[in-house]
Amino acid sequence: MLLAEIISVGTELLFGEIVDSNAAFLARELGARGVTLHRKTVLGDNLPRLTDAIGTALDRADLVILGGGLGPTDDDLTREAIAAALNETPTEDPAQLAHLRGLYESRGRAMPEINRKQAWLIPSASALPNPVGTAPGWFVQTTRGGSAKLLVALPGPAREMQRMWREQVLPRLPLPGAALEHTTIHTQGIGESNLAELLGDLTRQANPSVATYARATGVDVRVAASAPDRDQAAALLHPVRQRVRELLARWTWGEDDQTLAGAAQGALQGRTLGVIEAGSAGMLCTLLADQPAFLDAAVTQDHARLITLGLTPVTLRGTGLVSEQAARELAAGAREHLGADVGLAVVVATTGDRAGQAFVAVNVPQAGSAPLERTLHVNWPGDAAQVRERAAVSALSLLRS
Ligand code: ATP
Ligand code: MG
Repeated sequence: MLLAEIISVGTELLFGEIVDSNAAFLARELGARGVTLHRKTVLGDNLPRLTDAIGTALDRADLVILGGGLGPTDDDLTREAIAAALNETPTEDPAQLAHLRGLYESRGRAMPEINRKQAWLIPSASALPNPVGTAPGWFVQTTRGGSAKLLVALPGPAREMQRMWREQVLPRLPLPGAALEHTTIHTQGIGESNLAELLGDLTRQANPSVATYARATGVDVRVAASAPDRDQAAALLHPVRQRVRELLARWTWGEDDQTLAGAAQGALQGRTLGVIEAGSAGMLCTLLADQPAFLDAAVTQDHARLITLGLTPVTLRGTGLVSEQAARELAAGAREHLGADVGLAVVVATTGDRAGQAFVAVNVPQAGSAPLERTLHVNWPGDAAQVRERAAVSALSLLRS
């Protein structure tokens, strides 16, 4: 078993000015490779606390990953802290220094003197090249209490950290001989507790594991199995995944990398889509933006404009804009006035006593008969952004149902 800890460094992380998404990335990466993660720590740019945390983490774990603090300024202290924790003295590495100077010169600039410390190394560290930035990482091999320890220091910017992790760090790690196979099943229209009930004992077993995660697009169910190699993991995963697929078929809209918008695109089968949004502030358009079927849209709450798009004054005076009838009329209007094959409309109330209410409607032409209409009523408390997102997501799910 390879036991790991992550230490994220930066005062802005500690105070919540930026979110520690690097640690989330690394945690997922480690989990997917069978490395056991026991702790994530966030620390400000403070040398004694950082030094102490590195020492403690090395006592507990086989692998310690540090993120951030590799820049050239006085508050970038990761190198200093590692050196102090290991009782080693940093020296300037001539090859690293030449590389850094070369980087600046290739851009027609002289290297600022403060950048010299990015060329530091300690005896137990080797430099991890950074293909997208100046700061090289460190790969440290040391021993503590007679056990071999690894310590990796990566820069804070996500683009640099992720590339270096994949290209430089992963190939150097003694990863456990375990393989993990997993599938995430995306559902909609069923709550997490109902889902858990439906899955019953499946969620209580450890391998394969079945876990639920609530997301804006519905509840995801992740089925994962680990075994000494991929074939064995796949064989272990297979029957449980089948069982989960069968249980959830009614609510499933996709798996793994599929998006709800992609599923909607598939359901359109080559037909174009027109969208009218009233109250959802373009949220549905945002979700659909990359889909080739998405032809045209109108985003407006203006009653006069909505009337030109198919809303009838009778409905407006009667049931009002946030009503099933209004959504129906606008879905038909999206076809007629936007020239699309299929019309989709969403009407949302984010303020007033109807806040949290939304209606979505889809209008699909049928050969030789009246168009097919489907509607959905969403009624869920939340702030305006949540209400809009839920309405837009529901509209997408209606397309593919
Ligand atoms: P630089 O050379 O850019 O100073 P660095 O290695 O010193 O790199 P930091 O100064 O700690 O890294 O962070 C630089 C930027 O990287 C931060 O402003 C932030 O945008 C991003 N960043 C740092 N740590 C994290 C993290 N844990 N999660 C997400 N983003 C991070
Ligand atoms: Mg920095």
